Amino acid sequence: MNEGKVVKVSGPLVVAEGMQDADMFDVVRVGEHGLIGEIIEMRGDRASIQVYEETAGLGPGAKVVSTGAPLSVELGPGMIENIYDGIQRPLEEMLKKAGPNITRGINVEPLTRDKKWDFVPVAAKGDEIEAGDIIGTVQETVSVLHKIMVPYGMKGIVMEIKSGEFTVDEPVCIIKTDDGSKKEITMSQKWPVRRGRPYREKLVPEMPLITGQRVIDTMFPIAKGGVAAVPGPFGSGKTVVQHQLAKWADADIVVYIGCGERGNEMTDVLMEFPELADPKTGEPLMKRTVLIANTSDMPVAAREASIYTGITIAEYFRDMGYSVALMADSTSRWAEALREMSGRLEEMPGEEGYPAYLASRLAQFYERAGRVISLGKEGREGALSAIGAVSPPGGDISEPVSQATLRIVKVFWSLDANLAYARHFPAINWLNSYSLYVDRLSKWFAENVNKEFPRLRSEAMKLLQEEAELQEIVQLVGVDALSPLDQLKLEACKSIREDYLHQNAFHEVDTYTSLSKQYMLLNLIMDFYYQSKDAIEKGGDYGALISMPVRESIGRFKYVEEKEIEVYYQEILDELTHGIQEIISKGGEEDD
Ligand code: ADP
Repeated sequence: MNEGKVVKVSGPLVVAEGMQDADMFDVVRVGEHGLIGEIIEMRGDRASIQVYEETAGLGPGAKVVSTGAPLSVELGPGMIENIYDGIQRPLEEMLKKAGPNITRGINVEPLTRDKKWDFVPVAAKGDEIEAGDIIGTVQETVSVLHKIMVPYGMKGIVMEIKSGEFTVDEPVCIIKTDDGSKKEITMSQKWPVRRGRPYREKLVPEMPLITGQRVIDTMFPIAKGGVAAVPGPFGSGKTVVQHQLAKWADADIVVYIGCGERGNEMTDVLMEFPELADPKTGEPLMKRTVLIANTSDMPVAAREASIYTGITIAEYFRDMGYSVALMADSTSRWAEALREMSGRLEEMPGEEGYPAYLASRLAQFYERAGRVISLGKEGREGALSAIGAVSPPGGDISEPVSQATLRIVKVFWSLDANLAYARHFPAINWLNSYSLYVDRLSKWFAENVNKEFPRLRSEAMKLLQEEAELQEIVQLVGVDALSPLDQLKLEACKSIREDYLHQNAFHEVDTYTSLSKQYMLLNLIMDFYYQSKDAIEKGGDYGALISMPVRESIGRFKYVEEKEIEVYYQEILDELTHGIQEIISKGGEEDD
């Protein structure tokens, strides 16, 4: 490899000459410390390099060596439970090796080299195997069975397959390829982060990623393999929403990318993540989680790389046939890193200084989500659902990052500072949030939960929209000026908001609601509305209707344990119908 020379240093951007042999996106080592960087622009023999480490002290003349390989992650057992930086260096290992002040140019392997994993073969001698086929498994943690797959581009006949304890560097399988040569397969493989991992087929997302959060599942569902954005004004409950998703979403693997908030701390989410318990197993949630953390002492460039590192790891687990949930917090910080590098490259700035390619980069990232059939003879179905937090300055979503994101994602959970202030959690505003998956998923909900569920959902949404209009009238002329039917609407909406949408993440039962319970609860609330409406039309007394004691039972239904819901549900339904009948007949008597 030839050696180039630094001609200019501008923060994380280094320009080097004499790089004619290097390629765009090559990883390079810069200066005597061997700082890690990546070529992001090539002009003749001049390479612009974004350096992932502090460049202080670096000056013209320092040597630059290309490694000849693009920025890649190493995929294999040992990723789960790890906390990585933006270029997949394990933070704990770095700390051990270098002490609290990360020395520069430090070399730490992404996967532990000396740990032996118990490899259980699945393939057998004589099998014909190709890229994506599973040759064996490793129980990586109690929660994750790591499937060892044939790396991309490999194909042949198994000559030897081992069983027992091996490190990630030792061959576990030897194959004979078509040209007669022998190839070794280990438990680890590399993949360039900026390229999506190949799959056989992309499927239409048609089932929900069930989260147990009522406002999400019922009102603004995300499909498995779908993409969502959530803005996070400070104190609006963003951390709690992300924790709830990580804990409860029906995902086998969680990849969380913390893109560095401003200030000198890691995000709350990252700090608290290792303490969360997995409700499904009782084990720490980390047993099925990979964290990517950009602490604030890391240069912006590493932040830029981190979302690619994260999504590549997520794709790899999807290839195994898993449902993976990826969260990026926040994509705004990522975009700021992009803007900074673009500025230093002296590119033509677009809106608010962001580069013109901001939207296409964001789109490329979100496009890697999806429900797919993996490579391999028996392709597996896996899903990668991506949820990106955006943190627009001042909460104003008219800025470029939010706008570009909204054009890409299909779900928008609008966290609202006012709702949070009023202690309505999750503070997802039902009037300006949306999910473009609603129609597509309604078939699934009708078939798998209840055929009435989609209708109830849309009628509840319609009521909430009408509530907003009615409330304007109320502010002008007072609630008494409304007809009993309109007043009833307001009462029903109050119940939808307080008994349904409001959900306490810290209540042991309320924290998760199964889909059948969601249906039952919504049906109770809507049934109260329909039956009362009918009663009013038949002369029933409005005051009596809204003070029926059964309404309290409806309000408490969310706290009923799952195993008892059937019984309670029937009881409440009966009580409701009874109460209404009584009021109607009384109304009739008074009329006489
Ligand atoms: P952010 O990360 O947006 O600054 P947090 O997620 O830390 O905000 O939420 C702030 C506070 O709001 C939490 O400490 C908690 O008391 C409350 N909160 C948020 N979401 C919920 C929820 N779903 N249920 C109950 N309380 C919540």
